[in-house]
Amino acid sequence: MIFKNVRGILILFMYIVFTCKSLYALGATNRNVDIGICIDVSSASIGCSKSFIILDNSGKKLKFSKGVGSLECITKGIKINNYILYTPVKVTPSNNIIFVNSKPYLGQLTIQKSKTKMTIINVLPIEEYLKGVVPKEVNPLWPTEALKAQAVISRTYTIANLNKHKEQGFNLCSTTHCQVYGGLSGQVHSTNQAVKETNKEVLTYEDKVIQAVFHATCGGRTDSPRYVWGWKDIPPYLKGVKCGYCHKARYKTWEHTLDEHFIHEKLSQNNKIGKIKKIKVKGKTPTKAAKGLEIIHSEGKLRLNAYKFRTLIDAWKIKSHTFDSIEVKNNKVYFKGKGWGHKVGLCQEGAKGMADKGKTYKKILLYFYPKTKIEPISYREKKC
Ligand SMILES: [Zn+2]
Ligand SMILES: [Zn+2]
Repeated sequence: MIFKNVRGILILFMYIVFTCKSLYALGATNRNVDIGICIDVSSASIGCSKSFIILDNSGKKLKFSKGVGSLECITKGIKINNYILYTPVKVTPSNNIIFVNSKPYLGQLTIQKSKTKMTIINVLPIEEYLKGVVPKEVNPLWPTEALKAQAVISRTYTIANLNKHKEQGFNLCSTTHCQVYGGLSGQVHSTNQAVKETNKEVLTYEDKVIQAVFHATCGGRTDSPRYVWGWKDIPPYLKGVKCGYCHKARYKTWEHTLDEHFIHEKLSQNNKIGKIKKIKVKGKTPTKAAKGLEIIHSEGKLRLNAYKFRTLIDAWKIKSHTFDSIEVKNNKVYFKGKGWGHKVGLCQEGAKGMADKGKTYKKILLYFYPKTKIEPISYREKKC
């Protein structure tokens, strides 16, 4: 569960860039989404327990009975077994389930090639894609209403980020860079139900799909993205709220010790820095998270945004930028702090706490993202 939550946190600490407004306005979304599942690879295997059809860009059509084919990237295109195919190549399994490197995926594949590498893209309906995403972002054993809240968030994130890999010819990748997607093997009944019961629902503000950022544990109050990512215009739904629901969370408080040498090495990548003598918190956000840190070293002083420091050093070990203390002693740096993640948007442990108290997913979402609405999107069959 910890691992899954951290992935969720890491997914969302980047700026979200929108370039095509029509894609995140309501009512204009393709039913299918293109997910890059193997990016820039030289070889792969595809297979099916039933027959599958391969259609290449020259119109060549191959029908395979059940089995596995080896894909290899060659100068002219790609080679499957002994056939040379011109990209893009479409792969359609007769039973709608295709294996890539022995892992099952629902829907079809598109295989593209750029120079010497190929990219395998899984094409499937957004609602089916979400079933492979939600269990990676939240513990499937959590109460139903918390799972439904996460399903709406993951759908909202998907719609808002359909342009993220536009240059590479697909919508989203299957890693922490976008949302972790496990295909069919990642699916769990409870989260499948959460996706179904929130069918098409997304969070909106002024008729636009919102930036539904979230984190694992806020430690008492969520924060504004102003202090984390330096945003200037803060939407009202991300201004921060009191969260009295995550006090039982595992990382309400945490501590971690790192070698001074390790921190020095990380900071030296972009800064000229001597031996670290002291690390001071410089300014606090309204939620008592650190705004900045001052690193006093043998050559002088270095100022860094506290959140940036955390992600630069190790966001897995330094769980948050809400520090209770930072002590440098005997070549070690002792960190103590509260919460887990960037503190912006929904607090997942808080959502679980609310669900445990009988709150519905709608109440949970509108609490953490005030002034938003939960509205259905409509899917269209064809691409724009
Ligand atoms: Zn990505
Ligand atoms: Zn919280």
